[in-house]
Amino acid sequence: MSLIPDDVIEQVREAADIVGIIGEHVELKRTGSDFRAPCPFHGGTHRNFAVIPRKGMFYCFVCHAGGDVFTFFMKKLGMDYPTAVREVARRAGITIPERGPTGPDPREPLYGAVAAAADWFARQLRESPEAQVARDYLTTRHLDLETVQPLGLGYAPRSKAFLDAMKGLGVRDEVLLEAGLLAKREDGTLAPRFRGRLLFPIHDVRARVVGFGGRILGEGEPKYLNSPDTPIFHKGKLLYNLHVAKHAMRKAERAILVEGYFDVLRLSLAGIEEVVAPLGTGLTPEQAQLVKHHAPHVILLYDSDEPGLRATFRAGDELLREGLRVSVATLPAGEDPDTLGQKKGVAGLEEILKDAVDVLERKIQILDRKGFFGTLPGRRRALDRLLPTIRAAKDPITRELYLSRAAEAAGVRKDVLEREAGMRDAASGMRPSPTAHPASPISHPALPASAEKAVVLLMLEGEPWKSRVAEAVDPEELEFPPYRAVFESVADDAVLALDDTSARAYELLKAEGLGGRDPNEMYERAVNWLEARRLERQMERLDDQLPFETPDRQASLLAEKRRVFDELRKRYPRYKIAKRRRGAPGT
Ligand SMILES: [Zn+2]
Repeated sequence: MSLIPDDVIEQVREAADIVGIIGEHVELKRTGSDFRAPCPFHGGTHRNFAVIPRKGMFYCFVCHAGGDVFTFFMKKLGMDYPTAVREVARRAGITIPERGPTGPDPREPLYGAVAAAADWFARQLRESPEAQVARDYLTTRHLDLETVQPLGLGYAPRSKAFLDAMKGLGVRDEVLLEAGLLAKREDGTLAPRFRGRLLFPIHDVRARVVGFGGRILGEGEPKYLNSPDTPIFHKGKLLYNLHVAKHAMRKAERAILVEGYFDVLRLSLAGIEEVVAPLGTGLTPEQAQLVKHHAPHVILLYDSDEPGLRATFRAGDELLREGLRVSVATLPAGEDPDTLGQKKGVAGLEEILKDAVDVLERKIQILDRKGFFGTLPGRRRALDRLLPTIRAAKDPITRELYLSRAAEAAGVRKDVLEREAGMRDAASGMRPSPTAHPASPISHPALPASAEKAVVLLMLEGEPWKSRVAEAVDPEELEFPPYRAVFESVADDAVLALDDTSARAYELLKAEGLGGRDPNEMYERAVNWLEARRLERQMERLDDQLPFETPDRQASLLAEKRRVFDELRKRYPRYKIAKRRRGAPGT
């Protein structure tokens, strides 16, 4: 068994035609957007077996077999996971490079234990008399068992039955302990971690169950309990429902971020698929990055009470730091997405989402409503609340717009506000806040965003700069979409075709111009910086590849990495200082 990188597995899953593949084994009939067939696992004759292409999954309502396209091969043909991935890849025409033998993933037993537990918990929810309390609870939330079954919800009984069941399946206590499913009491005895709770399985991006979130039923604390961090479960690095939502996020080009598991359920049952939630805590930088991998725009849909608003703006700042566009949707007082979805259905939810406003604008609205802008001291306090959001905006255009808007709202001069926003940045160094993610290795204060901006500014100067820049820089290298769009439109003489955002960027850049700057120097620095970033990416790819190679191949990859690194130092002397901190080759 060898390891296949996650991104390759993702690529295979996305390319797989789940309907075509499963359709080779059973006769599928379309019902709405799904497909139905007699179940190939329990051998029924009724069409209880569903294939749901939009979620990339299958599920049988009788024997409860379910999973994704890889699970189908594993269950149907007895393949192991890597073999299933290779088989699907072959059919999708994707080549997976053969690697040397690297041995099995040492975490395999943990995945196995959590999967076995998830199956057992789901069966308890369906069948156990004790789980009536959980089934009743679902009813009070207007969810029926049939609806939540494909999502893998489960029930953890109060008793120690879980221990016996796992023993019966041959799962060892040490593995259950490491997987966070058992807890050791002070007297050394073992007890199930989850008791008397409704369980939401939490999947990693490969759609494997890695942990649970458990809601207490009846009295008790805490209301929600998660799996502890384990080698396969990292609370701050996972998002609930991402394994399903990511496809929809790509398609819709947006993500909807909610606070709770039930909120996710409600939206997703209403057919709004691009919805994810952090696991009961504030949004972490890693989670913000995860979102960014799949969508450029996030709508925050949190409660509108005070704690909900605080959480909204904290999450908003975290997302702005990743350069995402952030909007806030406002729920009527006292409602959460779950209750609103129950009352108003998908139309009501869509209405709220449609009315979402930019996160800074929302802050201004709230401060205004509270009368902050009416007095001088109030305006000062309002600015103090707006500044963190302005500073968080990593994307230069957003930041420009925020500065103008905040200055206007508070009645201060923009340059004064700009200085204040910048001063605190300098004071706190390159990291915008103590919780922020580590700065990218080449994020030099003045450079990263400005290199992209600089090449676009030069393009806007007309000839000869336009041709020189177009020759040296591939538009693909510009990561900020409006800059890329402006770059391309100027190169193609198609400025009028820009969309609203990019047109705004164009106007701002036009207005800014070169100022007093020397175009030759700007050009040199920006082109070198972009080249350095290209080389850095190349090194990262080599790093990703290294662990999977044979010793011989590793040696040649290391030599290549050394070559790229030397090139990088030559091109961008400052780079080595930053790079060394992360452990560059030869240090
Ligand atoms: Zn079945």
